[in-house]
This record gives sequence, C-alpha cells and structure tokens, in this order.
Amino acid sequence: MVNRIAQVQERMQAALRRAQREDEVTLVAVSKVFPAETIAEAYSCGVCHFGENRVQEFEGKRPALNLPGATFHLIGHLQSNKARKAVELFDRIDSVDSPSLAQRLGKIAEEAGRELPVLLQVHVGEERTKGGVLPAEAGATVRRMADVKGIRVEGLMAIPPYREDPEQARPFFRQLRELAEEIDRTGIPGVSMGTLSMGMTHDFEIAIEEGATEIRVGTAIFGERPPLGKARGRAGGRA
Ligand SMILES: *Cc1c(COP(=O)(O)O)cnc(C)c1O
Repeated sequence: MVNRIAQVQERMQAALRRAQREDEVTLVAVSKVFPAETIAEAYSCGVCHFGENRVQEFEGKRPALNLPGATFHLIGHLQSNKARKAVELFDRIDSVDSPSLAQRLGKIAEEAGRELPVLLQVHVGEERTKGGVLPAEAGATVRRMADVKGIRVEGLMAIPPYREDPEQARPFFRQLRELAEEIDRTGIPGVSMGTLSMGMTHDFEIAIEEGATEIRVGTAIFGERPPLGKARGRAGGRA
C-alpha cells in the first residue's frame, strides 16, 4: 500500500506542477468497503483523511480506529434519519445536498455544542441519479446555509459523470471551481469557498489542474473494491 500511496502523491505533485500551482492538495483516502485494519494501514503510511459513504458501515468500523489526528469525511448521500449518527461519527460532512439536511445537521451539531464543517454537494453534469443541488441553486443554498447555526460551510463537492476519457470531465471540474469563485465574489459573511472536493482515481489529475483542493481516491490506494462494495459502495451510493 505504501507504494500505491507514493504513486498517487507523485501524480498529485505532477498535476500541481502542470497547473503551476504552489498550494497543496489534500488526499482523502476513500476506504468504504475496506475494514478498519486497512484504514489503519493507510494511516501508518501517512494518510490522515478518510472518506466513507455509508453511516452504518462506518459505525461498525469506528470503534476499532484509534488514529490521532485522523479526519473522517462522509462522502455519500445522508438520509436525515441518520443525521444524528453521522454528526457523532464524522468530522466533516462533504455531501450536504439540500437546505433541509443542512438545517437538520445544524440543529444536531448545535445541541452537541459543535460547529460542524460541511461541504455543499453540487450536481454538475446531466445524469439525474447523482445527488446535489443544481449549479444555479448553489449560491442561494450557500447563503441559506451560512445562516444555519451549528454548521460551517467550507466549500463545494461534486461527482461529475463518469467519462471513459477523463479529459472530458474537465468542463465539470471547471464549472465547480468557477461556481465557488462566483460565490466567493458575492461575499457571504462568514463563508469562504476554500475547499473544492473533486476528482477520483480515474480523473483526479484533471481535477487538480482545474483547482481541486481535495481529491477522493479509493481504488488507486486500496485496489479494486470487492464485488459487494461495487454494488453498494459505488460513487454517490447511499449512506
Ligand atoms: C467511492 C467514491 C470515491 C472513490 O472512487 P475511486 O474511483 O475508487 O477512487 C470518491 N468519491 C465518492 C463520493 C465515492 O463514493
């Protein structure tokens, strides 16, 4: 695994150089379907951000994980009846896809005396199955979320449609970046779109070239997911 991680990091660096970017990109290792031991192994290789897409699955693994400084991201659709569990288990919810979910998370986090970092998931591309608010609604949604106590909106997340040629995902990544810039320009008090979570194994280099600050990589780190995981844990799967 240490070699796979090093390879991903080299590819990240190369993409940053191509884009003449001098900032850094956070690697979120998508550990869905893999057991706690595999997460601990990645941590021992220096990875400290992990993405999981199902609340229940992560609930089972969480007790076995004692990884100081590790950050756990929920990256799959969250049903509101699992919001409370999700707030308990995760450090950031990257897949907030409606104002009502934001309200609910805010209420729960506030009761717990927390300020929960979240990303707004935006639906880029035309596939109807992927979650997120429409690009045209994103600005207004962020503005509403800025008023919700208990959460802090840190940026945007997207899962563009799969394209055989990752180059074809470029316009979607660019769209998300431009959307974030536009929202920042409107100047919503207390909000900065500093985080752009976009790009997966197949297309993360293009995403970095287009301004991703975080990429979510599963397969390139952990290998192909087992068949059960393919069925249940695919991109955008239910949490
Ligand atoms: C599974 C998943 C990933 C990682 O996908 P890979 O192709 O294995 O890198 C990234 N983001 C989300 C939302 C996912 O569900």
